Amino acid sequence: MTVLQALPAFEDNYIWCYRGSEGASIVVDPGDAGPVLGAVANGLRIEAIFITHHHNDHIGGLSALRGTFTGAVFGPEEDRIPGIDCIASNGDVLQIPGFQPFHVLAVPGHTRSHIAYTDRDVLFSGDTLFSLGCGRLFEGSPEQMLASLDRLAELPDDTLLCCTHEYTLSNARFAAAVEPINPDRDRLLEDIQARRLHGRPSLPSRIGIEKACNPFLRTDFPESLSGLKQYLGFMPESRLARFTALRAWKDQFR
Ligand code: ZN
Ligand code: FE
Repeated sequence: MTVLQALPAFEDNYIWCYRGSEGASIVVDPGDAGPVLGAVANGLRIEAIFITHHHNDHIGGLSALRGTFTGAVFGPEEDRIPGIDCIASNGDVLQIPGFQPFHVLAVPGHTRSHIAYTDRDVLFSGDTLFSLGCGRLFEGSPEQMLASLDRLAELPDDTLLCCTHEYTLSNARFAAAVEPINPDRDRLLEDIQARRLHGRPSLPSRIGIEKACNPFLRTDFPESLSGLKQYLGFMPESRLARFTALRAWKDQFR
């Protein structure tokens, strides 16, 4: 088993397992216990569970995993998540045996209590930042989501982006509509298509790659959003207006 492993679940979810120096792993967003129990049968030891947000495809396996480990379940302060042992709030630093300290970031937008976890090497972004995309705004405003994405974009370029869904190739179609010419994205796509062809995840990505290729992290550069201008018939003045328009367009993009 590698240090960072994505267990496929449901249609397109990943449950990330991150192994520490003592051999036990942090498991992130176990929406389904099945794949995790399979990994446990193959030697996975769970040190802790991290939850990013309350959606069932991220928490559905929690109760069935309860008996398989003695560590804690970390998650946001949120009534809709049963089974959290330790509330993780913005700015908290989590000391998990065998791991570097994890920093907790509040990243509202997809849901109001969504959090992310990073030890600077990896980022568990849940449904906030995807490779070449971002989460839908179910409970937050575009302003909140943009601020959340800005926080994630400040992480070091080589931080590995571990998000929860295999949306990369479909996100790439939208990215190409927004920014028709982007050689960095072309290179990324070549790599991803090869990985998917062999049944491997497109992930993890890296923050630096996303800053170069993900339209939702490029609202600072109107010149990179020529497709948006064409779609709307004008270029919105502010980056918030550009982000808002991009997100609304993506919601109905097929
Ligand atoms: Zn979600
Ligand atoms: Fe999800």
